[in-house]
Amino acid sequence: MELDVEDIIAKIIKNDKLDDGIKSSEESSYAAAGENGVFKTVDDAVKAAKIAQNKYFHTSLKMRKKIVKAIRDELLPEVEEIARRGYEETNMGNLNDKIEKNRLAITNTPGLEDLKVSSQVITGDNGMTLYELCPYGVIGAITPSTNPTETIINNTIGMLAAGNAIYFSPHPGAKESSIWLIKKLNKIVSKASGIENLVVMIESPSIQAAQEMMTHPDINLLVVTGGPGVVGQAMRSGKKVLGAGAGNPPVLVDETADIEKAAQDIVNGAAFDNNLPCIAEKNIVVVNEVADKLLENLKKDAAFVVSDLADVKKLTELTVTEKQTPNKKYVGKSAEKILNDAGVAYTGNPRLILIEADQNSPFAKIEMLMPVVPFIRVKDFAAALDTCLTLEHGLHHTAIMHSQNVSRLNKAAKEMQTSIFVKNGPSYAGIGFGGEGPTTYTIATPTGEGTTSAKNFARVRRCVLTSGFSIR
Ligand code: NAD
Repeated sequence: MELDVEDIIAKIIKNDKLDDGIKSSEESSYAAAGENGVFKTVDDAVKAAKIAQNKYFHTSLKMRKKIVKAIRDELLPEVEEIARRGYEETNMGNLNDKIEKNRLAITNTPGLEDLKVSSQVITGDNGMTLYELCPYGVIGAITPSTNPTETIINNTIGMLAAGNAIYFSPHPGAKESSIWLIKKLNKIVSKASGIENLVVMIESPSIQAAQEMMTHPDINLLVVTGGPGVVGQAMRSGKKVLGAGAGNPPVLVDETADIEKAAQDIVNGAAFDNNLPCIAEKNIVVVNEVADKLLENLKKDAAFVVSDLADVKKLTELTVTEKQTPNKKYVGKSAEKILNDAGVAYTGNPRLILIEADQNSPFAKIEMLMPVVPFIRVKDFAAALDTCLTLEHGLHHTAIMHSQNVSRLNKAAKEMQTSIFVKNGPSYAGIGFGGEGPTTYTIATPTGEGTTSAKNFARVRRCVLTSGFSIR
């Protein structure tokens, strides 16, 4: 019979007492307080995760790989169920698109390979210095209602690959699907490694509990995916924060663009999951010369154009609140539902609502998170870039451009200073869907890490050996 070393280690971990000073009675009381990673209190959950991380830290890289593989292998056949639960609970977005988002999180989130490329060795007359990416400990991860299960999967793979345990604080509106997924993840991880509670949450997530977690002494890093309120709150906690905040991505189309392709890409990107992704096209800014042609092509690709002022008023009253925020009731709803509820007559099966507007329209300024997007005409490329810069609000999140002019593409990419800049493709190409590169649902904009992955969930440590291991 062939011996599996990892299985043997897993058995030893399961039966062994810890030798790090943590009392085993304390350990078992935390373990007993939770059920498959779901606890009553923040403190119990964090403490159980701390114990689990300590065990995990003392296993091997091979074990981490085994866990990541098990997560991918076991979640993939259930991707439709995972997406359906998030979709039905939040009642936002589009089921088919949510399936693709979850599939991408499972298959295209980098694992341990992400750490290897970021490690470094320096050798010379004085010996050898080694930089390695090591775990933080327990990460407090706050996740949004807009990408509920996909963010949990994406963060879990990256954070476990980096050797951490994770306390998840999901949006209360995605509580049931998150509990179901965390329990499933725990079963997968514990079957693969013998370690329980590497991924935890509490049974009643709330804003108050999220804030309690933010200041818990055993949380070593905060990774916050959400709007400006929660990112600001985390930054006031005094802990290190990776803040993945709001965006308002403009798409710029100039007169050199392949207009037919641009139109297709814009509808596909802006209508994807009913415009819930923070990276989705939220403003179309087009140079006059090709504006009519672009509009005609957008209509062919299932966009419905609203130019009648009375209809624009109806849509505004329905979807924008007096406080100039999106009406939550319509966040992530389909174009047809929004048109029906606004009482705007339409034909066909529109996926996207376009509103002829200027940059002062509330639809332009506000991150609407629904398939209602302004169509803004400007005189030339310079004006288009200025408008895009204004509408992005300096968030440094995402911008998209369609053009065949390389120097303009280069200029816009440089000036926009966004974490993601997509050229001649739909916005989602920027997260590895039809574009090269890995997938992330945590784009750390205010704190500057950009498209995060395992390497961002690890501390850089320097290890120095004097007078040795230089063989030149
Ligand atoms: P949200 O800000 O309402 O909630 C996000 C998370 O933060 C939830 O878990 C919520 O419970 C928690 N939260 C909210 N306010 C809090 C506070 N004051 N203290 C502690 N916790 C708090 O956002 P949402 O509606 O769930 O998601 C949409 C927002 O998230 C959009 O603004 C979108 O752009 C942003 N987002 C950003 C990224 C990114 O990678 N940059 C990814 C997805 C979503």
